[in-house]
Amino acid sequence: MTVQLLEDRILPFQVEGLDVRGRVIRLGKSVKKILDAHQYPQPVADILSEAMGLTVALASGLKYDGIFSLQAISEGDGPVKALVSDITSEGGLRGYAGFDADKLAALGDNVDVSVDTLLGTGRLAFTVDQGKHMQPYQGITALEAGTLSDCAHRYFQTSEQLDSDFKIAHGPSGICVVMIQRLPDESGDEEAAKEKWNHATIMLKSLTEEEMLDASLGLADLPYRLFHEDGVRVYETSTVHQECRCSEERLINTLKGFPMPELNDMIDEGGTTVTCHFCSTDYKFSAERLAELRDEKEAEEALKH
Ligand SMILES: [Zn+2]
Repeated sequence: MTVQLLEDRILPFQVEGLDVRGRVIRLGKSVKKILDAHQYPQPVADILSEAMGLTVALASGLKYDGIFSLQAISEGDGPVKALVSDITSEGGLRGYAGFDADKLAALGDNVDVSVDTLLGTGRLAFTVDQGKHMQPYQGITALEAGTLSDCAHRYFQTSEQLDSDFKIAHGPSGICVVMIQRLPDESGDEEAAKEKWNHATIMLKSLTEEEMLDASLGLADLPYRLFHEDGVRVYETSTVHQECRCSEERLINTLKGFPMPELNDMIDEGGTTVTCHFCSTDYKFSAERLAELRDEKEAEEALKH
């Protein structure tokens, strides 16, 4: 049986009666393409899926023009060394996981998809890169016990001004994240505002993973099911797609940055193949092409002196 994939879409919504705004994020084909390019073992695919879901959920709450990225870097003994996922403001998503296959195999079957088991100690960083002329934004937090989502949640609870909560699920149909944020209270009745927020978080918890991952339910069905009594409004959706930003031109620049002896080794070996971490595309460089690049590099360096 083929599983119906979720739509690659983001739906913003607002709950008037609860002073809450939120978003439903669903990723299907985009994530499948990214995972299919790698054949990751299941626990690695699972934690990378979680990282990609968080990336899109967090990025979709920001106004930016450039690239939002999430990086979880292990400094511990876990089998997963790095999880990297980024999304452009146009919705181009990519992601990869670096891992040690032997260490992962040593954990046996039924591996717990937690930060402690797969990564150990380390850091979780969020970056917004808006190009050369803008200061990049970066937030960093320590990787701690629990899931990757727990780490992200703790970070946002301590660094953001507004309370937020989210629920994430992933399975064969894709990834779904439902996120809510508390809007500033304008009534002055703090007790009532707190009560509203409590109610919103309880409703969010009541959402089941089955509902979140059921492609026969539309995105808007989720907030309607949760908040139909509290005046929910949905807004226009935006789309997400798989897109890598690698190119031969970028790799040429990387190769030109290599020290001369390494370039010469590659030429002596008859050329080299560079594989993109993110999308697994192979870029082949013949010895002749590398020799041209070496000559260009030499000429450029001569000009600098
Ligand atoms: Zn690529």
